[in-house]
Amino acid sequence: MQDIDNFNYFIDQFEDIRVLRYQLPGFKFLTLQQKKLIYYLSQAALSGRDILWDQNFRYNMLVRKTLEAILDNYSGDKESAEYKAFLIYAKRVFFANGIHHHYSNDKLKPGYSESYFASLIDGTNRNYLLLSAGQTVEEFIFILTDVIFNEKLFGRKVEQRKGTDMVAESAVNFYENVNQKEVEDFYKGKIDPQDPYPVSIGLNSKVSKKEGKIIEDVYKSGGLYGQVIDQIVIWLEKAIIASDSEMQRKEIGLLIDYYRSGDLKVWDNFNVLWAQDNEPEVDYNNGFIETYSDPLGRKATWEAIVNYTDIEASRRTKIITANAQWFEDNSPIQPQYKKEKVNGVAAKVINIAMLGGDCYPVSPLGINLPNANWIRKEVGSKSVSLANITNAYDITSLGNGFLEEFAADQSEVERIKNYGPLAEALHTDLHECVGHASGKLAEGTDPNALKNYASPLEEARADLFALYFMMDKKLLDLDLLPSEDAAKASYDTYLRNGLLTQIVRIKPGKDIEEAHMRNRSAITHWVYEKGRKENVVEIFRKDNKSYVRINDYLKLRNLFGDLLKEIQRVKSEGDYEAGKNLIEYYGVKVDPELHDEILERYKKLNLAPYTGFVNPKMIPAYNQGGEITDIVLEYVDDYLGQMLEYGRKYSFL
Ligand code: ZN
Repeated sequence: MQDIDNFNYFIDQFEDIRVLRYQLPGFKFLTLQQKKLIYYLSQAALSGRDILWDQNFRYNMLVRKTLEAILDNYSGDKESAEYKAFLIYAKRVFFANGIHHHYSNDKLKPGYSESYFASLIDGTNRNYLLLSAGQTVEEFIFILTDVIFNEKLFGRKVEQRKGTDMVAESAVNFYENVNQKEVEDFYKGKIDPQDPYPVSIGLNSKVSKKEGKIIEDVYKSGGLYGQVIDQIVIWLEKAIIASDSEMQRKEIGLLIDYYRSGDLKVWDNFNVLWAQDNEPEVDYNNGFIETYSDPLGRKATWEAIVNYTDIEASRRTKIITANAQWFEDNSPIQPQYKKEKVNGVAAKVINIAMLGGDCYPVSPLGINLPNANWIRKEVGSKSVSLANITNAYDITSLGNGFLEEFAADQSEVERIKNYGPLAEALHTDLHECVGHASGKLAEGTDPNALKNYASPLEEARADLFALYFMMDKKLLDLDLLPSEDAAKASYDTYLRNGLLTQIVRIKPGKDIEEAHMRNRSAITHWVYEKGRKENVVEIFRKDNKSYVRINDYLKLRNLFGDLLKEIQRVKSEGDYEAGKNLIEYYGVKVDPELHDEILERYKKLNLAPYTGFVNPKMIPAYNQGGEITDIVLEYVDDYLGQMLEYGRKYSFL
C-alpha cells in the first residue's frame, strides 16, 4: 500500500485528456469478507463494458476490436509519426467508449490518413480481424473507413439541437431505423399519468423498425445483450454469498431477477430496497441508470461502480442530512412545493473501488440515486460524495497555473488556495444530499414533462440549492465552514467557471450541449444579467483579458434564491416552455469572441480539460484449498494496457 503523500496520481495525457489513478485508502483494513464482496462486485462492474460500447454506437464494437487487433498484432513500423497519431486516436476512442467524444458528442477526428488506416489493416494478421462471412479485407476496410473518417455519417452521438429530428440524427444506438415522431408515438399510449408508481418505461430497451413494424428489444438475459448480462449475473451471484447483510443479499437477488426478466417493476423493487439500505460498508450501482445519452431522455446507458464507506469524511454529510428539514423549511422556494418531510436523504462519503461502464474512465464526483421520482419521494434516495476521486482531482489541480490565469486578483487566488477544495466538497455535499432531494411536484404533473431540458434543469436546481445555502450563517453555526471567506471562494469559483472557463471544453463555433455545463452556463448568465443594474457581478477586461468579479456576495446569494424558486416552480408544474427558454436563452450559446480568448489563454497553460481514471487491479490470493485468503491491490500505471486487458478479459459481445 503506497503512502498517500507519495502516491503518483498522474498516468497519461493526450489531446484534451488527462488520465489519473485513484487510491483506495483503508482498503487493507477491510475484513476479508468485505474485500471479497468488493472483488465480486468489481468483476460484475467490469463485465458489462461491451454493452455501453454498443449502446453508444452500433459500430463501436467493430471499431474497438479492430483497434485492439492492430495494437496487438500490427507488424509494421511503430515509430512513425502516423502510427503515433493512430495511437492517440485509439486512446481517445478507448476514453470515449466509442468513436464520439464523450463530452462534445462529435465524431473524433483521426490524425492519420485513410490510406494509412488501410495499410494498418493490411499489416495486421487477418485472423484477428472481425470479417463477416464472405467479406473481403477490401470491403472491411471500406466500411470502417466510412464509419471512422466520413464526418457526415453518424457525425454526432447525441443530437439535441432545436428543429432537428433528434432520434434520426443521433448516432447513439437506442434507436434504429425510426424517427423521433415514431418513437414518441410508440411510447405515448404506454404511459399512464395516473399511476402513482410509474415504472421508467423504455429505460432498458432499443426501439427499431423492422419490416414496417416498430419493435422494442429489451436488455435482458436471453434478450438484447443477454450474453453480457449473464456474465454480470455470474459475479452478482458470488456477491450474494459474500455479503453478510440480509437486506443486501435480498437486494442483489432482485437485481439478478431484473437482469433475467428485464422487468422494470423488479428494477423499481430493487431500487426501493437499495435506497433503504443506508448502512452497508460496501455498496454498488450496477444497471441501466442515467439517460443523458438518449436525446429523448428515456433510455439509460449501462454503468457500474463499487465503493466502500470513508467513515471519517462522512462527518460533514451527516451534519447536513441531520439538518435536511431545516434546509427545506428555509429554502426560498414556494411553500406549496416544499416537502413537509424530507425523506431518507442518506449521505455519506465513500471511496470508489472500481469504475465500470459509463462511469469509466470518466468518474462521477457524486452519486444521487435512484432516479425514479416516485421512489425518491416515497422512499428517499442515497447520496454520496466520492472522496478518493475528488482527492485525486484536488491534489493534481494545485499549482498548474490555471487559477493565476483566470482569477480576478490575488485576493481571489488566496481565497481559493485556502478554501477552494473544502468549499467545492461542501458544494457537492449540499448539491447531492439536500439539493436533489428537495422540493416536490404539483399534483398531476408529468415527471417527464421537461423532456430534453429535464437534466440541465435538475442539475441547476441542485446547484442553486447548494449555492443559496453556502452563504448562510447556518453553515458556520454547524461548523461546516470555517469562515465566510470559504463561502466566497465557492461563489468565485462557480461564477468564474460558468461565465468564463468551462467553455474551454467547447470547440470554436459549437454550442453547449452537456447537461451540467448548460446548467452552469444558465445559472451564471441569468444572475449576471439580473444583477447587472446593480453591478452585482462584473465582467471586466485587463490587458485584453476578461475576468469576473463579484461585487456584492449577498445580493448574488439572493439572485441564486430567486432562480432556485423559479426553477423549482418549472419542475413542480412541469412548465416545459419556461424551462426550455431558460436553458436555451442562458445556457446554450457561447460568445464567439470570448470563446476565442479563453481558448487561447487556456491553450498556453497546456492543460487537459477532461480527466479520466485507470482502475486499480484486484488480485485474489488463494490458499492450497483454493479459498480466497486476501484481495491484493495493484495500482496500474498503464492506461492503454488496462484498456487492452479489459478487451481481452471482459468482452462478451
Ligand atoms: Zn446532480
